[in-house]
This record gives sequence, structure tokens and C-alpha cells, in this order.
Amino acid sequence: MPEPGELVFASPRRGKPPRHLMDLDPAARREAVVALGLPGFRADQVSRQWLGRLSDDPADWSDVPAEARTTIVEALLPTLLTPVRAIDCDSGTTVKTVWRLHDGALVESVLMRYPERVTMCISSQAGCGMNCPFCATGQAGLTRNLSTAEIVEQVLAGARSLARGEIAGGPGRISNVVFMGMGEPLANYQAVVGAVRRLIEPAPSGLGMSARGITVSTVGLVPRIRELATEGIPVTLAVSLHAPDDELRDTLVPVNTRWKVAEVLDAAWAYADATHRRVSIEYALIKDVNDQAWRADLLADLLVGHLVHVNLIPLNPTPGSKWTASRPEDERAFVRALERRGVPVTVRDTRGREIDGACGQLAATTS
Ligand code: SAH
Repeated sequence: MPEPGELVFASPRRGKPPRHLMDLDPAARREAVVALGLPGFRADQVSRQWLGRLSDDPADWSDVPAEARTTIVEALLPTLLTPVRAIDCDSGTTVKTVWRLHDGALVESVLMRYPERVTMCISSQAGCGMNCPFCATGQAGLTRNLSTAEIVEQVLAGARSLARGEIAGGPGRISNVVFMGMGEPLANYQAVVGAVRRLIEPAPSGLGMSARGITVSTVGLVPRIRELATEGIPVTLAVSLHAPDDELRDTLVPVNTRWKVAEVLDAAWAYADATHRRVSIEYALIKDVNDQAWRADLLADLLVGHLVHVNLIPLNPTPGSKWTASRPEDERAFVRALERRGVPVTVRDTRGREIDGACGQLAATTS
């Protein structure tokens, strides 16, 4: 009951999204189905349709009686994501989708098809509270955390489109998922870990993806990195470093005032030790800000000898930002400085720039 004076019809209402089958592990799904007065095994059957066959059309679930389908769909499969807009580039092999959530919040996901893999870049929060000045998502602040099911359904939406042959290049499967859309995944830890489990557990529990194909990217929330190392889900950890020195990183990644470069890297090496996974260091090259030769040398000093790979990202333009990508010669010198020291490095192919779908450009406008 609303309290007297409470605004009952405040809109959009921010609240927990409705419960969804994808929020639950298999045992909890069976319990929920039993609570609806149905045999527990119906939960496994519907999960196999949803995750194994990627079928979201109850009319196709011929192994489940029609009445049970209706009951389960109404109680446990609410529509969480409604597409507002989909735009593509790269001849239809890069597709950005803007989704509206139950409460009106907007998030984005990007599907990128390459000759040898398909990567889904997904959001873990509506907005972001980390406030990095070069990132469009950070500028509007945090709206709310996504639920496990809201995260998983972004991947499933892409998987269904691919399976149906709706993406240029014919029918296919998602091989990689990167938590590099909107939000700081480790600030929404429980929902993100739940979503990762749904992605890697085999059907009917989950999608059966390889943990190696999943990357969780963070600004460097040290206690959460250490916790992630204990979960037994060996996903790739990406750390958005962007500067090797605290003085500059304090300004580019404000959470650095809480956890310094050295602490973040210590946690990253502990993660590599625990999982035997190579840690990815993300470094957006910003002209005359963080791209000097001496910073490349300092970065190499910090990384040399560790299980690491550096991803240099030419800065993508964002509205109102005074910063721009490094000059080609400075980028080349930066790469060479790391290579000379034997630090593995690649320059990221930044897909989707022209549709504002590249790193740091996701701001979820509907225009
Ligand atoms: N909050 C997480 C997940 C976002 S991932 C994180 O920061 O890691 C998005 C990646 O793109 C991060 O490495 C982020 O620092 C980077 N990025 C943000 N804005 C960018 C921009 N304008 N150009 C290039 N990379 C950017």
C-alpha cells in the first residue's frame, strides 16, 4: 500500500524488473514452476527451448502442453527488453540495438560479426556511475543496475537474430561476450556473476558458452576483482588502465583516487594467477594526454613479465569532449615501445564508430 502523499504514478518508475526464468538457477526454476501448480520438469523443458533451441515462441514448444506454456510465459517470461531502435554499419555485420527496459530506462548492446567470430558487447547497468570524462556513458550518471535476466536477454536477443539468419553473413552463433557496453560490471557484481553463470553453464541451465570467450571489463574495483578470482568462472578480465601513473589516472578514471594503479595491477596479477587467464589492459590513446613515449615506457615497466595483453583503443569521439585520438605516428611509437620490451600489444579495431556504437560512445538516445 502506498503511504499517504506518496506519488503513486511517478513515471518512469524505477524498480526491480519482474522476475524472469533467466534470473534463476535450474533448481529455483523448478521450484517456481512447482509453485505455479505444474510439474518441476516443465522448467527444464522450457529452459531447453529458451536456451538450447533459442526459441522464444511458445507455439513451437511442442513438448509442453499449451496450458502449461501459457502459465509459465505469464509468470516467468515477462518481456524485459523492448527494441527501440536498431542501426547497423559494416554492411550489416555490426548492429547496435537500443533497448527499453520495463521502467523506461534505456540500454544498448552491439553485435559485431567478424570472419572467425561473433562478439556481443552488452550492458550491465543503465548509465554508469564511474564518471570517466572521455566516456559518453559516464556523462549522464547511473540510472540503475540491470538484473541477471536483463543482461542474459541481451545475449539471447543477439543469439536468436543470428540463429534465424537475420544478420548479414547467414545463420551463426555467438562466440564471444564482452561486458564493455554501458555500466561498470563489477559495481553490479551479483547480477553480472549470475549472468556469466547462465552464459557458461550447459543447457538447460545456460547457453553453454566457453568462459574463455567472455570478458569482464572494469575500471579497477579491487575488492571485486579479488572476489571474481574465487568464483571458479575463468572469464577474461580486462582492466581499463588508460594511464600508468596515478597523477594522470586520477583524472581519467576517477575511481583511481580510491584504488591506485599499483593496487589495481596487484589484483589483476592475482586474478591471472588464480585463473591462468591472460589479463587484458585497456588503454584508450588520447592525443597529447596519455600517449607520450615516456608513458609507454612506464607502462612497459609495470607490465613486463606478467600474463598480460595490451589493447590500445584509438579514442572514439564523444559529444562535447575536447579530446581526440592520437596521431598515427604517436600510436605507432607507443606500440613499438611495448613490443621492444616484449609486452604483447594490439590496436583494437574500433567497430561501429559511425553509429555511436564503439567503446565509450554508448549513451542510449533514441534520436
Ligand atoms: N566500466 C567498464 C566497462 C566499460 S568498457 C570499464 O570501464 O572497463 C568500455 C571500454 O571502453 C573501457 O575500457 C573504457 O575505458 C573504454 N572507453 C570509454 N570511452 C572511450 C572512448 N571515448 N574511446 C575509446 N575507448 C573508450
